[in-house]
Amino acid sequence: MWDVADFEAAAYTTVAQLSAYVAASGRGHEPVVRTRPPAELAAAMDLRRWLREGGMDQDTYRGFLATYLAEGTRLHHPAYLGHQCAAPDFPAALADFVHGAVNNPMAIYEMGASAATVEFEVLRWMLEKAGFGPGGGGVLTHGGSLANLTALLAARAAVTPAAWEDGVPGDLALLVPPSAHYSVTRAAAILGLGRRSIFPLEVDALGRIDPDRLPAALDRVLRAGRRPMALVASACSTGTGLYDELRPIGEFCADHGLWFHVDGAHGASALLSEEHRHLLDGLETADSMIWDGHKMLGVSSVAAAVLVRREGDLDRAFQQEASYLFYGDRGFDSIGRTVECTKGELGLKIFLNLAWRGERGLGEHVAARYATAHRLWRLASERPGFSCPYEPQSNIVCFRYGSADLDQAALRRRLMDDGTFYLTSAEVGGTRHLRATVMNPATTDQTLEALLDAVTKAAN
Ligand SMILES: *Cc1c(COP(=O)(O)O)cnc(C)c1O
Repeated sequence: MWDVADFEAAAYTTVAQLSAYVAASGRGHEPVVRTRPPAELAAAMDLRRWLREGGMDQDTYRGFLATYLAEGTRLHHPAYLGHQCAAPDFPAALADFVHGAVNNPMAIYEMGASAATVEFEVLRWMLEKAGFGPGGGGVLTHGGSLANLTALLAARAAVTPAAWEDGVPGDLALLVPPSAHYSVTRAAAILGLGRRSIFPLEVDALGRIDPDRLPAALDRVLRAGRRPMALVASACSTGTGLYDELRPIGEFCADHGLWFHVDGAHGASALLSEEHRHLLDGLETADSMIWDGHKMLGVSSVAAAVLVRREGDLDRAFQQEASYLFYGDRGFDSIGRTVECTKGELGLKIFLNLAWRGERGLGEHVAARYATAHRLWRLASERPGFSCPYEPQSNIVCFRYGSADLDQAALRRRLMDDGTFYLTSAEVGGTRHLRATVMNPATTDQTLEALLDAVTKAAN
């Protein structure tokens, strides 16, 4: 199968094109996003013929890759302010490449001792950052949604150990703010709790959990004859990028024996920034948390951590009897802790970024993106016609332009259609806003001014 000379030649082509692609994206000359209709794209890439006939070679691969890259979305582009996906740094990209060739699916140690050990050490580092101490445990999974599911499964096992054998009792409840990521509600349904098990926590006008209203929420659960399984907080929330106040929530959970789960998919990386670490104050009181590498640690999609304060909680998630994972000096299997059976070498992506940039470098990356978002907020607040509902705490900023009836989603469409800016939108306090997420160092103050100009122009 592998003609090694062929592989080398194609790999050099790939490296050359990717380098040019990242450089061009960073200069911002190409459209940040293109969404031509799928039929046109299938024809442009000649997909059906390749699928039928095969026969791609060095020359035709070069042409195919060029079209493929040109028609995609450029995350390294200064005007990329869309979803919270990292503009990957190159050490992590190398890890993807290595995995693609080596393929050590190391959910069992003997299928990749080096990969499994890298994951183990990355998790140990993350546990230390989270303040979970030496008793903690973790595993890397394919994404934050799966990580939330896994953490809540651990909570379910802690509250109802028999559920694994006997099925799920009908009286469980989850306390969740409406601002939580949708994967939490989904997890409740997947876990067999049903969406009706969700008891919404009271939040302020910006969707942050109101710690003073927690006793009332617990009261509602108990009066409904339900058993609380877990309470979920966001650090930070996806829509607004605002952090729930973890310490008082954690203290309430500890006082009432509630499992406290912190969804830090996006915002846990602020642990690496001296200036922003305080946003996660109280995290160490959580029973479980999740942390995505593919958001603010500069790795490609996906590499997410599930971390628990007591290691055994994770082992019990997938079985009643925790069978310890270590076989003395023979290594360890993580397969007992994950939904997945076969798994990617997820640890290597996070590890290589850390090894190359250092904990400090990644912390500076987080701090710099958060600072750029803060400047966008300031600039927008000062401009006539713009309104900003809150001061951002992270790299996610929401704002509106124009009168109350101006359709912000249509405004976003117009910017996307001409490929000048990629923004998302979100509801804040029941009103649709434009939403910008600063992911990438190419986004400068000049970009921010140009964005506000472009929004103004698109609206008028
Ligand atoms: C992105 C995100 C998730 C989902 O993570 P995926 O890796 O996209 O599955 C969950 N929670 C929060 C707060 C997020 O921002």
